[in-house]
Amino acid sequence: MTHPLLDLAPLTAAHFAAIEDRVARLLDTRQDVVIMQGEALLPLEGAIRATAGPGTTALNVITGPYGQTFGNWLRDCGATVIDLAVPFHTAVTAEQIRAAFAEHPEIDFVSLVHAEAATGNTNPVAEIGEVVREHGALFYLDAVASIGAEPVLPDAWGVDLCVIGAQKAMGGPAGVSAVSVSERAWARMTANPNAPRRSYLSLLDWKERWIDAGRTSLLHAPAQLEMLALQACVERIEAEGPQAVMARHAAAAAATRAGALALGGGLEPYVYEAAEAAPVATTLRSPSGVVASELVARALESDPALPLAAGGGALAKEMIRVNHYGSDATPGAVRASLAALGAALSEKGPTVDLDAARRAAEAAWQ
Ligand SMILES: *Cc1c(COP(=O)(O)O)cnc(C)c1O
Repeated sequence: MTHPLLDLAPLTAAHFAAIEDRVARLLDTRQDVVIMQGEALLPLEGAIRATAGPGTTALNVITGPYGQTFGNWLRDCGATVIDLAVPFHTAVTAEQIRAAFAEHPEIDFVSLVHAEAATGNTNPVAEIGEVVREHGALFYLDAVASIGAEPVLPDAWGVDLCVIGAQKAMGGPAGVSAVSVSERAWARMTANPNAPRRSYLSLLDWKERWIDAGRTSLLHAPAQLEMLALQACVERIEAEGPQAVMARHAAAAAATRAGALALGGGLEPYVYEAAEAAPVATTLRSPSGVVASELVARALESDPALPLAAGGGALAKEMIRVNHYGSDATPGAVRASLAALGAALSEKGPTVDLDAARRAAEAAWQ
Protein backbone atom coordinates (compact mmCIF):
# COMPACT_ATOMS: atom_id res chain seq x y z
CA MET A 1 0.00 0.00 0.00
CA THR A 2 1.38 3.43 -0.86
CA HIS A 3 1.59 6.01 1.87
CA PRO A 4 0.91 9.69 1.01
CA LEU A 5 3.93 10.95 2.94
CA LEU A 6 6.35 8.16 2.17
CA ASP A 7 6.05 6.73 -1.30
CA LEU A 8 6.70 9.89 -3.26
CA ALA A 9 8.43 10.21 -6.60
CA PRO A 10 11.84 11.87 -6.18
CA LEU A 11 11.85 15.66 -6.22
CA THR A 12 13.67 16.70 -9.38
CA ALA A 13 16.16 19.52 -9.76
CA ALA A 14 13.69 21.31 -12.06
CA HIS A 15 10.98 21.08 -9.41
CA PHE A 16 13.38 22.35 -6.74
CA ALA A 17 14.35 25.29 -8.97
CA ALA A 18 10.68 26.08 -9.67
CA ILE A 19 10.00 26.30 -5.92
CA GLU A 20 12.97 28.65 -5.54
CA ASP A 21 11.54 30.85 -8.30
CA ARG A 22 8.19 30.97 -6.56
CA VAL A 23 9.84 32.10 -3.33
CA ALA A 24 11.75 34.74 -5.32
CA ARG A 25 8.44 36.02 -6.68
CA LEU A 26 7.03 36.25 -3.16
CA LEU A 27 10.04 38.41 -2.23
CA ASP A 28 9.75 40.42 -5.45
CA THR A 29 13.47 39.91 -5.94
CA ARG A 30 15.79 39.43 -8.90
CA GLN A 31 18.57 38.31 -6.59
CA ASP A 32 19.53 34.66 -6.37
CA VAL A 33 17.29 32.81 -3.94
CA VAL A 34 18.84 29.77 -2.28
CA ILE A 35 16.61 27.36 -0.44
CA MET A 36 18.41 25.78 2.50
CA GLN A 37 17.57 22.37 3.90
CA GLY A 38 17.08 23.32 7.52
CA GLU A 39 15.34 25.67 9.88
CA ALA A 40 16.07 29.38 9.26
CA LEU A 41 18.98 29.35 11.69
CA LEU A 42 20.92 27.49 8.97
CA PRO A 43 21.00 30.37 6.42
CA LEU A 44 21.12 32.92 9.24
CA GLU A 45 24.38 31.40 10.50
CA GLY A 46 25.65 30.44 7.05
CA ALA A 47 25.25 33.98 5.71
CA ILE A 48 27.15 35.54 8.61
CA ARG A 49 30.00 33.01 8.49
CA ALA A 50 30.25 33.51 4.72
CA THR A 51 30.43 37.30 4.71
CA ALA A 52 32.01 38.35 8.03
CA GLY A 53 35.64 37.95 9.07
CA PRO A 54 38.49 39.61 10.93
CA GLY A 55 38.35 42.60 8.54
CA THR A 56 34.64 43.22 9.17
CA THR A 57 33.21 45.95 11.36
CA ALA A 58 29.62 44.99 12.02
CA LEU A 59 26.82 47.10 13.40
CA ASN A 60 24.61 44.53 15.13
CA VAL A 61 21.16 45.82 16.01
CA ILE A 62 19.59 44.08 18.99
CA THR A 63 15.83 44.39 19.31
CA GLY A 64 15.26 40.89 20.68
CA PRO A 65 16.99 37.57 21.35
CA TYR A 66 18.08 36.84 17.75
CA GLY A 67 20.22 39.98 17.57
CA GLN A 68 22.21 38.65 20.50
CA THR A 69 22.83 35.38 18.67
CA PHE A 70 23.97 37.19 15.51
CA GLY A 71 26.45 39.25 17.55
CA ASN A 72 27.94 36.05 18.96
CA TRP A 73 28.38 34.54 15.49
CA LEU A 74 29.94 37.75 14.19
CA ARG A 75 32.43 37.85 17.08
CA ASP A 76 33.17 34.17 16.53
CA CYS A 77 34.08 34.99 12.91
CA GLY A 78 36.60 37.55 14.16
CA ALA A 79 34.55 40.62 13.26
CA THR A 80 34.64 43.79 15.32
CA VAL A 81 31.07 44.11 16.56
CA ILE A 82 29.32 47.30 17.56
CA ASP A 83 26.12 46.32 19.34
CA LEU A 84 23.21 48.74 19.13
CA ALA A 85 20.67 47.51 21.65
CA VAL A 86 17.27 49.15 21.96
CA PRO A 87 14.69 48.34 24.65
CA PHE A 88 12.41 45.48 23.62
CA HIS A 89 9.31 47.68 23.98
CA THR A 90 10.35 49.80 21.03
CA ALA A 91 11.89 49.64 17.53
CA VAL A 92 15.22 50.94 16.28
CA THR A 93 15.11 54.11 14.16
CA ALA A 94 16.98 55.04 10.98
CA GLU A 95 18.37 58.01 12.96
CA GLN A 96 20.02 55.65 15.44
CA ILE A 97 21.62 53.77 12.55
CA ARG A 98 22.78 57.05 11.02
CA ALA A 99 24.33 58.09 14.34
CA ALA A 100 26.16 54.75 14.60
CA PHE A 101 27.70 55.27 11.14
CA ALA A 102 28.69 58.83 12.09
CA GLU A 103 30.50 57.54 15.16
CA HIS A 104 32.01 54.49 13.42
CA PRO A 105 32.44 55.24 9.69
CA GLU A 106 34.33 51.92 9.35
CA ILE A 107 31.08 49.92 9.68
CA ASP A 108 30.79 47.70 6.58
CA PHE A 109 28.15 45.22 7.72
CA VAL A 110 24.74 45.76 9.34
CA SER A 111 22.68 42.94 10.86
CA LEU A 112 19.06 43.57 11.69
CA VAL A 113 15.97 41.56 12.58
CA HIS A 114 12.93 42.87 10.71
CA ALA A 115 10.14 41.72 13.02
CA GLU A 116 10.68 39.95 16.32
CA ALA A 117 8.07 37.34 17.14
CA ALA A 118 9.82 36.93 20.50
CA THR A 119 9.44 40.55 21.56
CA GLY A 120 6.66 41.78 19.28
CA ASN A 121 8.33 44.74 17.63
CA THR A 122 9.02 45.52 13.97
CA ASN A 123 11.76 47.73 12.58
CA PRO A 124 11.57 50.29 9.71
CA VAL A 125 13.73 48.38 7.23
CA ALA A 126 13.05 50.61 4.21
CA GLU A 127 14.35 53.73 6.00
CA ILE A 128 17.26 51.87 7.57
CA GLY A 129 18.15 50.39 4.18
CA GLU A 130 18.59 53.88 2.75
CA VAL A 131 21.12 54.75 5.45
CA VAL A 132 22.99 51.46 5.02
CA ARG A 133 23.20 51.97 1.26
CA GLU A 134 24.49 55.56 1.64
CA HIS A 135 27.44 54.08 3.53
CA GLY A 136 27.96 51.10 1.26
CA ALA A 137 27.72 48.51 4.03
CA LEU A 138 26.41 45.00 3.46
CA PHE A 139 22.86 44.64 4.79
CA TYR A 140 21.83 41.36 6.46
CA LEU A 141 18.19 40.94 7.44
CA ASP A 142 16.31 38.29 9.41
CA ALA A 143 12.83 38.42 7.89
CA VAL A 144 11.65 35.08 9.31
CA ALA A 145 8.93 36.66 11.43
CA SER A 146 7.90 39.33 8.93
CA ILE A 147 7.52 37.37 5.69
CA GLY A 148 3.82 36.83 5.09
CA ALA A 149 2.81 39.26 7.82
CA GLU A 150 4.12 42.49 6.28
CA PRO A 151 5.97 43.52 3.10
CA VAL A 152 9.50 42.12 2.74
CA LEU A 153 11.23 43.74 -0.27
CA PRO A 154 14.96 42.99 -0.41
CA ASP A 155 15.55 44.66 -3.79
CA ALA A 156 13.62 47.85 -3.03
CA TRP A 157 15.26 48.14 0.40
CA GLY A 158 18.80 47.25 -0.65
CA VAL A 159 19.02 44.12 1.48
CA ASP A 160 22.00 41.96 0.50
CA LEU A 161 21.11 38.87 2.51
CA CYS A 162 17.44 38.38 3.32
CA VAL A 163 16.62 35.23 5.29
CA ILE A 164 13.11 33.84 5.53
CA GLY A 165 11.48 30.78 7.03
CA ALA A 166 8.03 29.43 6.31
CA GLN A 167 6.93 28.48 9.81
CA LYS A 168 5.51 31.77 11.00
CA ALA A 169 3.16 33.96 8.96
CA MET A 170 3.55 31.83 5.83
CA GLY A 171 1.85 29.01 7.69
CA GLY A 172 4.36 26.53 6.30
CA PRO A 173 7.01 24.03 7.38
CA ALA A 174 9.88 24.77 9.76
CA GLY A 175 12.42 22.46 8.14
CA VAL A 176 13.35 24.54 5.10
CA SER A 177 14.30 28.17 4.73
CA ALA A 178 15.57 30.56 2.07
CA VAL A 179 17.94 33.44 1.60
CA SER A 180 18.16 35.98 -1.20
CA VAL A 181 21.75 36.91 -2.01
CA SER A 182 22.88 40.07 -3.84
CA GLU A 183 25.84 40.22 -6.22
CA ARG A 184 27.70 42.25 -3.59
CA ALA A 185 27.13 39.56 -0.99
CA TRP A 186 28.37 36.82 -3.36
CA ALA A 187 31.48 38.89 -4.03
CA ARG A 188 32.20 39.22 -0.29
CA MET A 189 31.82 35.48 0.18
CA THR A 190 34.06 34.64 -2.74
CA ALA A 191 36.74 36.96 -1.35
CA ASN A 192 36.43 35.53 2.18
CA PRO A 193 38.95 32.72 2.76
CA ASN A 194 37.05 31.67 5.89
CA ALA A 195 33.63 31.38 4.23
CA PRO A 196 32.33 27.83 4.74
CA ARG A 197 33.09 25.62 1.72
CA ARG A 198 32.20 21.99 1.29
CA SER A 199 30.05 22.42 4.38
CA TYR A 200 26.35 22.16 5.20
CA LEU A 201 26.56 25.84 6.25
CA SER A 202 27.97 26.86 2.89
CA LEU A 203 26.12 29.25 0.61
CA LEU A 204 29.07 29.28 -1.78
CA ASP A 205 28.60 25.56 -2.42
CA TRP A 206 25.09 26.32 -3.65
CA LYS A 207 26.37 29.15 -5.82
CA GLU A 208 29.16 27.17 -7.42
CA ARG A 209 27.57 23.76 -7.72
CA TRP A 210 23.90 24.68 -8.15
CA ILE A 211 23.31 28.23 -9.45
CA ASP A 212 26.42 28.65 -11.62
CA ALA A 213 25.95 25.11 -12.93
CA GLY A 214 22.50 26.00 -14.26
CA ARG A 215 20.49 24.43 -11.41
CA THR A 216 20.47 21.02 -13.06
CA SER A 217 21.89 18.84 -10.32
CA LEU A 218 21.22 19.09 -6.58
CA LEU A 219 24.02 19.01 -4.01
CA HIS A 220 22.36 16.27 -2.00
CA ALA A 221 18.98 14.60 -1.63
CA PRO A 222 16.38 17.33 -1.20
CA ALA A 223 14.23 17.46 1.95
CA GLN A 224 11.30 16.36 -0.10
CA LEU A 225 8.42 16.63 2.35
CA GLU A 226 9.50 20.08 3.46
CA MET A 227 9.96 21.23 -0.13
CA LEU A 228 6.46 20.07 -1.06
CA ALA A 229 5.07 21.74 2.06
CA LEU A 230 6.91 24.95 1.16
CA GLN A 231 5.41 24.84 -2.31
CA ALA A 232 1.95 24.23 -0.84
CA CYS A 233 2.19 27.14 1.55
CA VAL A 234 3.39 29.53 -1.18
CA GLU A 235 0.53 28.33 -3.40
CA ARG A 236 -1.92 28.95 -0.58
CA ILE A 237 -0.55 32.48 -0.09
CA GLU A 238 -0.79 33.13 -3.85
CA ALA A 239 -4.38 31.84 -3.87
CA GLU A 240 -5.51 34.06 -1.00
CA GLY A 241 -3.33 36.90 -2.26
CA PRO A 242 -0.23 38.10 -0.37
CA GLN A 243 -1.95 41.43 0.38
CA ALA A 244 -4.91 39.65 1.96
CA VAL A 245 -2.64 37.43 4.05
CA MET A 246 -0.73 40.46 5.30
CA ALA A 247 -3.98 42.34 5.98
CA ARG A 248 -5.17 39.40 8.08
CA HIS A 249 -2.02 39.55 10.20
CA ALA A 250 -2.26 43.34 10.60
CA ALA A 251 -5.91 42.99 11.64
CA ALA A 252 -5.06 40.26 14.15
CA ALA A 253 -2.39 42.49 15.71
CA ALA A 254 -4.70 45.51 15.86
CA ALA A 255 -7.53 43.44 17.32
CA THR A 256 -5.32 41.81 19.95
CA ARG A 257 -3.90 45.15 21.00
CA ALA A 258 -7.29 46.86 21.20
CA GLY A 259 -8.87 43.87 22.92
CA ALA A 260 -6.14 43.66 25.56
CA LEU A 261 -6.47 47.37 26.35
CA ALA A 262 -10.26 47.07 26.63
CA LEU A 263 -9.98 43.97 28.78
CA GLY A 264 -8.41 45.99 31.58
CA GLY A 265 -7.13 44.28 34.68
CA GLY A 266 -3.73 45.89 34.14
CA LEU A 267 -2.87 44.04 30.93
CA GLU A 268 -0.95 46.31 28.54
CA PRO A 269 0.66 46.11 25.12
CA TYR A 270 4.37 45.36 25.62
CA VAL A 271 5.38 47.48 22.62
CA TYR A 272 4.34 51.05 23.48
CA GLU A 273 3.66 52.38 19.97
CA ALA A 274 1.20 50.52 17.75
CA ALA A 275 3.27 51.50 14.70
CA GLU A 276 6.25 49.62 16.17
CA ALA A 277 4.22 46.50 17.01
CA ALA A 278 4.77 43.55 14.67
CA PRO A 279 1.80 42.22 12.67
CA VAL A 280 3.07 38.65 13.20
CA ALA A 281 2.56 38.46 16.98
CA THR A 282 1.44 40.69 19.81
CA THR A 283 3.26 40.84 23.11
CA LEU A 284 1.50 41.95 26.28
CA ARG A 285 2.83 42.96 29.67
CA SER A 286 1.24 41.14 32.57
CA PRO A 287 -0.10 43.26 35.43
CA SER A 288 2.28 43.78 38.35
CA GLY A 289 2.06 40.85 40.73
CA VAL A 290 0.91 38.45 38.00
CA VAL A 291 3.55 36.08 36.61
CA ALA A 292 3.07 35.92 32.83
CA SER A 293 4.09 32.26 32.46
CA GLU A 294 1.56 31.23 35.16
CA LEU A 295 -1.19 33.26 33.50
CA VAL A 296 -0.44 31.67 30.13
CA ALA A 297 -0.33 28.18 31.65
CA ARG A 298 -3.76 28.73 33.22
CA ALA A 299 -5.20 30.10 29.94
CA LEU A 300 -3.83 27.11 28.02
CA GLU A 301 -5.52 24.71 30.45
CA SER A 302 -8.84 25.91 29.03
CA ASP A 303 -7.67 25.25 25.45
CA PRO A 304 -4.16 23.92 24.74
CA ALA A 305 -4.50 24.84 21.05
CA LEU A 306 -4.57 28.60 21.71
CA PRO A 307 -1.59 30.48 20.19
CA LEU A 308 -0.33 31.70 23.56
CA ALA A 309 3.16 31.58 25.03
CA ALA A 310 5.10 33.34 27.74
CA GLY A 311 8.20 35.34 26.85
CA GLY A 312 11.49 33.44 26.69
CA GLY A 313 14.07 33.44 29.47
CA ALA A 314 13.85 36.37 31.85
CA LEU A 315 10.83 37.72 29.94
CA ALA A 316 8.70 34.76 31.13
CA LYS A 317 7.77 36.73 34.24
CA GLU A 318 6.31 39.75 32.49
CA MET A 319 5.64 38.96 28.82
CA ILE A 320 2.68 37.20 27.22
CA ARG A 321 2.94 36.39 23.52
CA VAL A 322 -0.14 36.02 21.34
CA ASN A 323 1.23 34.23 18.27
CA HIS A 324 -1.61 35.11 15.91
CA TYR A 325 0.22 34.01 12.77
CA GLY A 326 -0.42 31.60 9.93
CA SER A 327 -3.69 29.77 10.47
CA ASP A 328 -4.12 31.64 13.78
CA ALA A 329 -4.39 35.04 12.09
CA THR A 330 -8.15 34.87 12.46
CA PRO A 331 -10.82 36.74 14.46
CA GLY A 332 -11.68 33.47 16.20
CA ALA A 333 -8.14 32.80 17.44
CA VAL A 334 -7.80 36.38 18.68
CA ARG A 335 -11.20 36.29 20.41
CA ALA A 336 -10.49 32.95 22.09
CA SER A 337 -7.02 34.07 23.20
CA LEU A 338 -8.37 37.24 24.78
CA ALA A 339 -11.21 35.35 26.47
CA ALA A 340 -8.86 32.74 27.93
CA LEU A 341 -6.37 35.36 29.13
CA GLY A 342 -9.21 37.41 30.62
CA ALA A 343 -10.68 34.43 32.46
CA ALA A 344 -7.26 33.41 33.81
CA LEU A 345 -6.55 36.99 34.88
CA SER A 346 -9.85 37.42 36.73
CA GLU A 347 -9.10 34.26 38.72
CA LYS A 348 -5.99 36.00 40.01
CA GLY A 349 -7.95 38.99 41.26
CA PRO A 350 -8.05 41.81 38.70
CA THR A 351 -11.43 42.82 37.35
CA VAL A 352 -11.71 42.37 33.60
CA ASP A 353 -14.35 43.26 31.04
CA LEU A 354 -14.61 40.33 28.63
CA ASP A 355 -17.45 41.91 26.63
CA ALA A 356 -15.57 45.15 26.13
CA ALA A 357 -12.51 43.20 25.00
CA ARG A 358 -14.54 41.24 22.47
CA ARG A 359 -16.21 44.36 21.09
CA ALA A 360 -12.95 46.31 20.87
CA ALA A 361 -11.23 43.42 19.09
CA GLU A 362 -14.09 43.12 16.60
CA ALA A 363 -14.10 46.85 15.90
CA ALA A 364 -10.34 46.94 15.45
CA TRP A 365 -10.37 43.97 13.07
CA GLN A 366 -12.26 46.05 10.49
C1 LIG B 1 11.01 32.41 14.66
C2 LIG B 1 12.18 33.18 14.29
C3 LIG B 1 13.33 32.56 13.80
C4 LIG B 1 13.42 31.08 13.67
O1 LIG B 1 13.70 30.52 14.90
P1 LIG B 1 12.88 29.36 15.64
O2 LIG B 1 13.11 29.69 17.09
O3 LIG B 1 13.49 28.09 15.26
O4 LIG B 1 11.44 29.45 15.26
C5 LIG B 1 14.39 33.37 13.46
N1 LIG B 1 14.33 34.70 13.58
C6 LIG B 1 13.24 35.33 14.05
C7 LIG B 1 13.24 36.81 14.16
C8 LIG B 1 12.14 34.59 14.43
O5 LIG B 1 11.06 35.21 14.91
